[in-house]
Amino acid sequence: MKRGWRLLFVLIISSNISAVREYEKNERTCVQELYYQNHMHQTVQFVQAQHRKYLSLNHGIMSVWEALERSNEIVDDSDPDLDLTQINHAFQTAQAIRADGHPRWLILTGLIHDLGKVLYLFGEPQWAVVGDTFPVGCAYANSIVYLEFFKENADYHDPNYQTKYGIYKPQCGLDTVLMSWGHDEYLYHVVKEYVPAQAGYVIRYHSFYAEHKAGSYAHLLNEYDLQMMEWVKLFNQYDLYSKSRELPDIKKLTPYYKELVTEFFPQKINW
Ligand code: FE
Ligand code: FE
Repeated sequence: MKRGWRLLFVLIISSNISAVREYEKNERTCVQELYYQNHMHQTVQFVQAQHRKYLSLNHGIMSVWEALERSNEIVDDSDPDLDLTQINHAFQTAQAIRADGHPRWLILTGLIHDLGKVLYLFGEPQWAVVGDTFPVGCAYANSIVYLEFFKENADYHDPNYQTKYGIYKPQCGLDTVLMSWGHDEYLYHVVKEYVPAQAGYVIRYHSFYAEHKAGSYAHLLNEYDLQMMEWVKLFNQYDLYSKSRELPDIKKLTPYYKELVTEFFPQKINW
């Protein structure tokens, strides 16, 4: 690339990057409140209780498409960038991935990645559904947003949970790590038997910014994580930069996406 073009390219990319996830400048104070509650309540004990409550998938039987339509009732309070409903974000993400010629499983991942937010419709508060995720049971990385709010968390005062490795072993692999509870972990368990492993992995860790953006938990990752995390990084570009006020033509796009969903999922699945 010629130097001038490269500079322009870098400028465009960096101006884009500074335009998203600006927590300090955002005017939606609900973002701060959400992270205050999230960091106070996401303990090892809470995460284990949510696993017992949800991972047997006994909260309803519904099609992926129904979940997508119901997600139209949700606005994500943790998103400092946009207050559009989730169905628009689902289509925008999928369409951006599709436009770049990526495989069908990745387009599907774009469409469904946030469907775990139906937890909100099951009565969970936003702090237990959305926001960046992080491992519980070990020290909090400096790269986690609103780090200061952890002072209110019971685990913060338990020395066993505040060492670098905490309850984990070096390079143990994320599969054995308890992540703060939210839509990522939940949806992973809902869809894992229907989608390729890469899709499941992207869904499970797409909000783990402290790792996929900052690399703060490399000491817990194994070889498998290192490989899979590349998909998460690729996916994140679409999750963030496809957000726009220009609404996708959902009606026109529906036949294509219904067919895509049918390719991977049976009529109804357990939630
Ligand atoms: Fe998400
Ligand atoms: Fe998203």
